[in-house]
Amino acid sequence: MTSKVLIINFEEIYLKGQNQRIFIKQLVRNLKRKLVNYKDYLSFSKAFGGSYFIEIIKEIPEDILSEIVYKVKNTPGITGFYVADTSGITMDEIIEKSLEHVGRYTQEFESFAVVSKRINKSVPFDSMEVGRQVGSAINVAFEKKVNLSHPDFKLHIKVRGKYTLIYSKIIAGVGGFPVGTSGKAIAMLSGGIDSPVSTFMAMNRGLHITAAHFHSVPKTSPKSIEKVKMLTKKLTDFQGQIKLLLIPVLDIQEAIAKHTDSRLRLILLRRIMLKIGTKIAEIEKAKALITGDSLGQVASQTLENMRATEDATDLLVLRPLVALDKKTIINIANRIGTFDISILPHDDACSMFTPKSPETKAQLEYVQSQCAKLDVDALVQDAIEKMEIVVINDSEEIVILK
Ligand code: ATP
Ligand code: MG
Repeated sequence: MTSKVLIINFEEIYLKGQNQRIFIKQLVRNLKRKLVNYKDYLSFSKAFGGSYFIEIIKEIPEDILSEIVYKVKNTPGITGFYVADTSGITMDEIIEKSLEHVGRYTQEFESFAVVSKRINKSVPFDSMEVGRQVGSAINVAFEKKVNLSHPDFKLHIKVRGKYTLIYSKIIAGVGGFPVGTSGKAIAMLSGGIDSPVSTFMAMNRGLHITAAHFHSVPKTSPKSIEKVKMLTKKLTDFQGQIKLLLIPVLDIQEAIAKHTDSRLRLILLRRIMLKIGTKIAEIEKAKALITGDSLGQVASQTLENMRATEDATDLLVLRPLVALDKKTIINIANRIGTFDISILPHDDACSMFTPKSPETKAQLEYVQSQCAKLDVDALVQDAIEKMEIVVINDSEEIVILK
């Protein structure tokens, strides 16, 4: 018999009407891929009624179960799930397992209710009877009171065909849509706080991400690349495997510094980053670029500057953080586990290149005329040829070398 069952809910997917089958199929595909290392323990079943079941088919060590719970929790498309205990379908078996289940949480509640459902109609009792008998057993064993309208603790019991599901605590998921259901995008990933958050938000809206990082090695330390690999690794918690593209921009920075107005350095570099991103998007069949810009967060992130930067590409540029304040962004970064990595010291490709007084209200025509002083196509082509591709898996260990 199965030892436990994960009951997965996906409410938001359910709102998608006729697309829901495609969404569920992608969600299950993503889950199977993320849980591939644990497949000997698992049996995936069919989705029905807004839920999907993963059965645990043999005894499972607690630490392995926690790893599985962690993977499921972080899979976009899942709003929440229960880890259900299972018992046989006799009343004695149901009572025994219910007491064992409730016994783990007795510190946390005073009043309780039993919500029971009988899907297997061949058992010699109805769902009311299950509620009554289990309720009175809990009352006697733990001296807790029944409160059907406002219980502190709700025990769910479902008597199914071959076994009974017993569960109580919902574990919140990240919600959103399954990765891949909205298509592909290229996320511009720096080592900062913002872009890992914007990348996560894009994944959580169903985009499958390829990450692009621009670096100035050997002028900057290779540690900055290790840091971006660590951030990417953290983001595999949500998407599973991620392709990370490492693009050298030192030659581009030198050309910009030599030939153009120093106030526009950053904007011109960003424009070329977007151009490289656009070429990569073509190769990857991606339909958008994602950045971590937030309006007004730094003096350079103005409407004028964003416009003068975005002008370099025809591709859609999505900025999931555009209207979020720093506190909110940091909260999300903490929740998804990227904050502690982002604040590790590093020298990024842009800070060493920042002029004393960067333009904050770039004039588009002037930017275009300065850009024309560079052989942009050749610089883009050269950077793409020197690009390194790293595939980061969710099981891989990444550490920053000291
Ligand atoms: P972040 O915290 O993401 O570094 P930021 O607040 O430092 O953002 P900027 O430096 O203006 O803001 O960068 C804006 C966006 O441009 C970043 O969020 C990121 O998407 C992209 N970007 C900047 N530098 C790089 C880089 N070296 N590699 C890839 N993308 C970059
Ligand atoms: Mg930055």
